[in-house]
Amino acid sequence: MALTITVANEKGGVGKTTTAVNLAAGLALRLAEQPGAAGRVLLVDMDPQGHALLATAFGQPAVQPGDSLASLLTETPPPSAQRMVQRATHHENLFYIPSHRAAMIEAARVLPTLMANETRLARALAPLSSQFAFIIIDTPPNTGDLLVNALVAGDQVLIPVETSYLGVSGLRELERTIEQIRLLFRPDLKILGYLPTLLEEQRSEAQEILGELEKRYRGYILPPIHRSSDLAYAHSSHLDVFTYRPPRQRRSDQIASSSRPTQEYAQLVELILQRVNSGGRHAA
Ligand code: ADP
Ligand code: MG
Repeated sequence: MALTITVANEKGGVGKTTTAVNLAAGLALRLAEQPGAAGRVLLVDMDPQGHALLATAFGQPAVQPGDSLASLLTETPPPSAQRMVQRATHHENLFYIPSHRAAMIEAARVLPTLMANETRLARALAPLSSQFAFIIIDTPPNTGDLLVNALVAGDQVLIPVETSYLGVSGLRELERTIEQIRLLFRPDLKILGYLPTLLEEQRSEAQEILGELEKRYRGYILPPIHRSSDLAYAHSSHLDVFTYRPPRQRRSDQIASSSRPTQEYAQLVELILQRVNSGGRHAA
């Protein structure tokens, strides 16, 4: 059974997509030698903007709206998700579900009028669970049925937090959304952790904000991701950072290079693998 991690924060520009893309790629590299489902990772991009797929599926042919994620969400019964899955551009064992921007915008519009509108992604992905080790879901920067579907489909929520005052104060709405989803749909939905992103240590407020996060979310703060031009350049080159800055010799137990963000995202990958291996699938 796949462990599904939903990357969410209702604020834009906090590093959700960067985290989803690099976590998916890092897990795929790390698991590359595992046989079958144990080595396969799926990325699902619930943001109509489709930026996660720009990095994962760049150069792949466009698809018809009817063969995309939107029809998994809106058609009753949905088409087969299995048949939609495609192989990513740079990793043999990373897969994605194609998306179509206009169809996703339309899906967000019609979902509230459909039956079971909150659980449609979870239902559509259920048949894929036995085929992947991890499913990583990127989410749009607003509250709505697309985000709700992504949370209901998740086992764990990973919350990137920009290390600024604004970043911290915007979390309450997401926490209320998660609480409601636990009450209504998924009592076992876990918070994997809060991931400080875009960290600039030399800025005076950074330490203060990290301290504040530690106090508020004791035990749930993950090792931070610093602001780095490699991440921005990888993104604009339509690559994950592991492909953009590869190590001299690629080994599945050594996916990081000398580039700091590869080390930081590799550390996140290790931490998640350790938690999965030690005592099942539950975060601390
Ligand atoms: P979100 O998905 O939350 O809107 P993104 O991951 O798209 O956020 O990040 C917003 C912008 O910031 C993008 O241009 C991305 O390349 C850049 N970015 C994200 N994380 C970092 C980082 N750690 N260092 C430098 N640039 C980053
Ligand atoms: Mg995004």
